[in-house]
Amino acid sequence: MTEPVENMPVRHILCLSGGKDSTALAIHLRRTRPHLNLEYVFTDTLKELQETYDYLNRLEALLNIKIVRLNAKAGFDHWLTVFGGLLPSPQMRWCTKMLKLKPFEDYIGDQKVISYVGIRADENRTGYISTKPNITPTFPFKEDGIDYAGVMKILNESGLGLPPYLKWGRSHSGCFFCFFQQPMEWVRLLENHPEQFEEAMKYEKVSSEPGKTFTWIQGMPLSELRKPETIAGIKKRYEERRLRLKKQRGNKSLAETLGGLESEEETSRACLICQL
Ligand code: SF4
Repeated sequence: MTEPVENMPVRHILCLSGGKDSTALAIHLRRTRPHLNLEYVFTDTLKELQETYDYLNRLEALLNIKIVRLNAKAGFDHWLTVFGGLLPSPQMRWCTKMLKLKPFEDYIGDQKVISYVGIRADENRTGYISTKPNITPTFPFKEDGIDYAGVMKILNESGLGLPPYLKWGRSHSGCFFCFFQQPMEWVRLLENHPEQFEEAMKYEKVSSEPGKTFTWIQGMPLSELRKPETIAGIKKRYEERRLRLKKQRGNKSLAETLGGLESEEETSRACLICQL
């Protein structure tokens, strides 16, 4: 590996995911650190929800910025072919590596970079971020004490509001078929974007031959999940869990605050670059 180029100016980069935190960070940095010559980057799997693309377009217009889209040509389908049809999973997470981290690292090369990360002051996670030695992460929300309520305030005051998918109960941005989705989120995808649920289903292969079955949820193909009796069971279990969480967390539950989103412990397993 080549050494970082010492005499080149340090680049300041904000990776946007289309999620609420990285979006709010873009707005916050414009207000609090207007002197920064920020580059805005979105690593596109080409499998995001259209509403995520629209939200990013609105952010571009609001701040009058240009968001660099990486992977514009070789998205998820290209890499799926390279990986022989093997769907990614928490254990085999080639998608984050090939579609998120590598394009970002290639884009910045060996120059020194300060990477602005939207982890909030009320979060205690490090996540799945690049560890290249020339990249120094910085956490402005933590420095400035911006918590969940602070992020909501920034988004509301800007007029941009929340990413649209949060309103129908999807907890994060990223590919519409992301395997980190909880069964309830798959149900919501089916109810709100049936065409994308169908598209996700087409990627699955169910075979009696060992090692030839590829499904997004281990042991439950989407063709099974979409059956009314399965959906009823998922909704029942979800509601029971929601009530249990409500009892345990009282008013502090993020899940409660946002109307039934998944808990932070669950979403924190996912990659920050995809979902902040
Ligand atoms: S959103 Fe999910 S499926 Fe898409 S790249 Fe990230 S981890 Fe992979």
